[in-house]
Amino acid sequence: MYDVIIIGGGPAGLTAAIYARRANLKTLVLEATACGGQIIITPDIENYPAAMHISGLDFASRLESQANELGAEIKFEEVTGLNDRGVEKEVYTDSGSYTGKAVIIATGTKPRKLGLIGEDELIGHGVSYCATCDGSFYRGRVVAVNGGGNTALDDALFLSNIAEKVYLIHRRDEFRGDAETVEKLKAKENVELVLNSNVTKLDYDKKLNSIEVTDVNGATRKLDVAALFIAIGRMPATEAFADKITMLDGGYIDGEYCHTNMPGIFVAGDCRNKEVRQLVTATADGAVAVHEVLKLLNK
Ligand SMILES: Cc1cc2nc3c(=O)[nH]c(=O)nc-3n(C[C@H](O)[C@H](O)[C@H](O)COP(=O)(O)OP(=O)(O)OC[C@H]3O[C@@H](n4cnc5c(N)ncnc54)[C@H](O)[C@@H]3O)c2cc1C
Repeated sequence: MYDVIIIGGGPAGLTAAIYARRANLKTLVLEATACGGQIIITPDIENYPAAMHISGLDFASRLESQANELGAEIKFEEVTGLNDRGVEKEVYTDSGSYTGKAVIIATGTKPRKLGLIGEDELIGHGVSYCATCDGSFYRGRVVAVNGGGNTALDDALFLSNIAEKVYLIHRRDEFRGDAETVEKLKAKENVELVLNSNVTKLDYDKKLNSIEVTDVNGATRKLDVAALFIAIGRMPATEAFADKITMLDGGYIDGEYCHTNMPGIFVAGDCRNKEVRQLVTATADGAVAVHEVLKLLNK
């Protein structure tokens, strides 16, 4: 049995693993995809103390190495649920189950979807939630970005240097993101702003061929694009725990001092209900959660 099972190998989970191993706890990290979490898509981190100009990928790989070097066990399995058996907590994955004396949920957030027919099956075939990861597959092609915040604006700017043309589709007439980036986009000849409009349909066979956008007056327009980059926000990746753990409406886990409603099950990072979702708060949560685990285990 593990002392602590950490669900999610992002900044919160890996920091928890570092603190847990430094306290000599038998530690398992369960990560669904690759270690690092959301930050791996960022080319440059500028606001993490004492780590100037490091890429998200480098930051993540250093965190993973640190957790590994300290002896954390990391398994690449998706957690599908958990069960509280008192002193023992059972964690279920897509390929097995594990028991621990304590569990830390650090599953972060995932991109919000449009909910259109075909969206899921087109991931990797014209639909993407990460321009920096997938943009280069569409070099010299016509693409679209959907969203109005900083991520959408940055994605459109990044893609304008790669793609033949970029449509930036936003449901309002003004962007929420940086005015400076908006001005840069307006100055780009290969960027067309499609405002007051929503993406309403994906036309595809095995890959995306075009999208339909509908404006506030109900008029539709077909845009021939090879890819649609969706950047309409993020949502907590907590559905696996919804039957057991108290969550707020949006699915964020309620957790003062990283405690959940279930004794021995803690929460850390972006999936926790809080106001600031950044690396510093995620890593801080990882440390706090382990501090609470140590109190539970009387260590
Ligand atoms: C584009 C972008 C740029 C950003 N730039 C900055 C920045 O410059 N500075 C900054 O401070 N912050 C930045 N952030 C925010 C920062 O990345 C997050 O605050 C931080 O990554 C949160 O860490 P986390 O560990 O809580 O969650 P996440 O990073 O979301 O990691 C969660 C991990 O859990 C895994 N997981 C999810 N569900 C399961 C499951 N069921 N089973 C197993 N594993 C699971 C995921 O695969 C993921 O690896 C940025 C975020 C984005 C999206």
